Amino acid sequence: MIEKTMVSLDEAIKIILEHTPTLMAERVSLNETLGRVLAEAIHSRRDHPPWDNSAMDGFAVRWQNICTASPESPARLKIVGESQAGSLPQCDVNPGEAVQIMTGAPTPNGADTVVRIEDCRIDGNWVVITNPGKQGANIRRLGEDVRQGQEVLAANTSVRPAEVGMLATAAYSSALVYQQPRVSVLTTGDELTEPGEALTLEKIINSNAYSIAAVVRESGAYAIQLDSAKDNKAELEEKMRQALTADVALVVGGVSLGKYDYVKEVLETLGCAIKFWRIAVRPGHPVVFGIIDGDQNDGMPKLLFGLPGNPVSCLVAFYEFVLPALRKMMGHQELFLPKVEAILEQDTRNRPGRTHFARAVAEYRDGDYYVRLTPDQGSGILTSMTLANCLAILDADRDFYAAGERITIQLLP
Ligand code: AMP
Ligand code: MG
Repeated sequence: MIEKTMVSLDEAIKIILEHTPTLMAERVSLNETLGRVLAEAIHSRRDHPPWDNSAMDGFAVRWQNICTASPESPARLKIVGESQAGSLPQCDVNPGEAVQIMTGAPTPNGADTVVRIEDCRIDGNWVVITNPGKQGANIRRLGEDVRQGQEVLAANTSVRPAEVGMLATAAYSSALVYQQPRVSVLTTGDELTEPGEALTLEKIINSNAYSIAAVVRESGAYAIQLDSAKDNKAELEEKMRQALTADVALVVGGVSLGKYDYVKEVLETLGCAIKFWRIAVRPGHPVVFGIIDGDQNDGMPKLLFGLPGNPVSCLVAFYEFVLPALRKMMGHQELFLPKVEAILEQDTRNRPGRTHFARAVAEYRDGDYYVRLTPDQGSGILTSMTLANCLAILDADRDFYAAGERITIQLLP
């Protein structure tokens, strides 16, 4: 029996996250770490840079030999060798000597300053310096970026391109990251046909299978797109069994109160414990959340979301309810779309009673975000999503917002 039916936005998120596990760790190669979350702290395996080195092309010298140089009384130093990136210097810099050095090359023993090539004149085997610059100039110190043994990345860090570079710098060719959930996408409805099939009048094109699989991939999880199911209990049951072999099953459509909306009934047959099936939000109010205990799945519970069939509703419900769960599974610390404040550009009526995620366009100018709603807010108007770059959050207890008011928006990826 379904006992809890309609829950608030906050309750829904609390219940979902309470039942959502973080997945186990796996080792992946360096190039596979982008977008993943570290399941281990990274300690550098060496100093970086591993030796003092030159930040410029020029001459490595002893400061003592050049500190008084001027155009009237230049310093003349004997060029005794060269230091280039990729090899260690072959000679030292003794008093009265200089070594020509390239950017990134190790500084030779004895040298404490590099003079830029632009500030030197070469005269046979001699270098002439008229402007000493600063003591210690143009030298990057051993370990100035990273010391061996230092924690350079904490566990639970999301890996961006800079972190990929840091893993490499720390001499890691692979890293432990959280696994990505496998997410099945099952669309339902007698009316569905696929793009590319012959178009008949009684059918609509199954756009949700593609948009929902896309939003799953966008989140960093694996999408498994199943063939859509007809509104018939036996077929739905068979396909839902298949969907429930994944870590997370998304069943799209068939969750409202229509005569042929069988999803909830079939879920109960399959032993899925339904936690709620309506959330006080608009769009996307019929959202089912259920779990199947983890006995057959390494102790990991499986999650099931029933999303409404309207093309806008299922996307908004995904961003608000499914995405946080997938991000928790993948080890992320930040689970939700980023929120910022924006100034409303137009008077806006709101139907109170439910939190409204209105599709909107935000623009950053003169130090503020300005936001206006897209013209048609119907839950079947997919254009409202293609035009939007954010969702404007309108409170359940407000029926009107005046132009100029500050509201909260959530930026879409
Ligand atoms: P339902 O939630 O099944 O009652 O569907 C609500 C509305 O969404 C109906 O107008 C459906 O035609 C439409 N719809 C349902 N499933 C899809 C789908 N996979 N792709 C596009 N539209 C759909
Ligand atoms: Mg339907």
